[in-house]
Amino acid sequence: MKGRLDLGVRPSHERGMSTATLTIDLAALAANWKRLDAMNNCETAAVVKADGYGLGAVQVADALARAGARRFFVAVAEEGVALRCALGPWPQINVFSGHMAGDTALIRDFALTPMLNSIDQMLRHVEALPGHSFGIQLDSGMNRLGMEPAEWDALRDIALEQRPALIMSHLACSDEPDHAMNAQQLRSFREMTDGIETTRSLSATGGILLGRDYHFDLCRPGIGLYGGFPFSDANPVVTLDLPVIQIRDVLPGETVGYGNSWTATRPTRLATVSAGYADGLIRGMGPNLHLWAGHLRCPVVGRISMDLITVDVTDLDDAPDALSILCREQGVDEVAAAAGTIGYEVLTNLGGGRFNRVYKR
Ligand SMILES: *Cc1c(COP(=O)(O)O)cnc(C)c1O
Repeated sequence: MKGRLDLGVRPSHERGMSTATLTIDLAALAANWKRLDAMNNCETAAVVKADGYGLGAVQVADALARAGARRFFVAVAEEGVALRCALGPWPQINVFSGHMAGDTALIRDFALTPMLNSIDQMLRHVEALPGHSFGIQLDSGMNRLGMEPAEWDALRDIALEQRPALIMSHLACSDEPDHAMNAQQLRSFREMTDGIETTRSLSATGGILLGRDYHFDLCRPGIGLYGGFPFSDANPVVTLDLPVIQIRDVLPGETVGYGNSWTATRPTRLATVSAGYADGLIRGMGPNLHLWAGHLRCPVVGRISMDLITVDVTDLDDAPDALSILCREQGVDEVAAAAGTIGYEVLTNLGGGRFNRVYKR
C-alpha cells in the first residue's frame, strides 16, 4: 500500500510501528509556490511529474490549486489521467511527452493537452483529435525534446492556424546563472517565437531565478516547490523519520554490517533503524551520511542494507525512538550530496518507499 493507509497523523514510530514516517508539509509547498509566483509578472504553473517528485501528485496538486495554480505539467498521459480524476475538469493539464500513438483515447477522454514535439506528433494530433487542445515544444539547444528551428520553420504557419494553447522550450543550464547557454537558448527561443501571440513559456525553477527576461507568459517550476536547489531559500517540505528497532553496544574491534566495512574503535552504541535502499535511500551514500536526533548528528556506520541502516548513537544521552534523515538540519540537497546526486533524484526515489505518509496542511 506504499504507506498510504490512513493510520492517523502521529508519526508511525510514536505508535510503535516499524515503518518510517514521511511528512509532507503542504503549507510549506504552497508557500514556495507563492514565493516563486511573486518573483515573476506572469502566470505560474506547477510541474507534478513523477508523482509530484515522489511526494504524491494528487495531494501536491490539490494544495497548489488551492494556492492559486491553474495549470499543471506531467511527463506522461497516465499521470495526467490521475490528476484529472483528482482535480476535476477545470485546470489545464499538459503532458511533456506529447501525443504518442497509444495515448489518443486518454488525451481525448481526460482532456489532456499534449506538448507536441515533432511534425509526426503534430500530424497525428490534428488527424486523431481535430480541434483538441495542444501545445508546442521547441528545442532551443538542449537537444532532448521538441522541434528544432528548421522543423518549426516548416510547420509554424500550419501549427499556429490550429491555435496552440502554449509554446514552450526548456533550459539546459538554468541552475548555473552565469552559463553562456542561458542567453544562447533565450536568443534561440525568441527567434523562434517573437511576434507570436500564443502563451510562451521557457522557465522552470532555475529560469525564474534568472530574471524577467526569461519569464515570458508562463513559468513552470518543479523542484523549487518541493524545497530543492536551485531555489536555495525554499521552505523545506519533507521530513523523513526512521524508527529505531534495536539498540546494541559493541566493543572496540567489533565490526558492523555486510562486508565488515566498519570496525568500532571505541565502545560504541549502535541504533538500527528501519529503512534502507529498497526505500530509495541510496546505498552508496552510507559512508558520507548522518542521521539526526534533533540537532545532534549521528554517523551512519557500515553499509546501508535493503531494509536497515546502522547508526553510531554513542554520543547521545538517551536511546532515541527515531532518527531523521530529512529534517531541518539536513535537507534533500545535503542528502543528495552524500549520494553524489541531485535533490531531484533523492525526492523521486522516496516515491517507491515503504513510508507512512503524513500530509501537514
Ligand atoms: C521537469 C521539468 C520542469 C520543471 O523543472 P524544475 O527544474 O524541477 O523546476 C519544467 N519543464 C520541463 C520541460 C521539465 O522537464
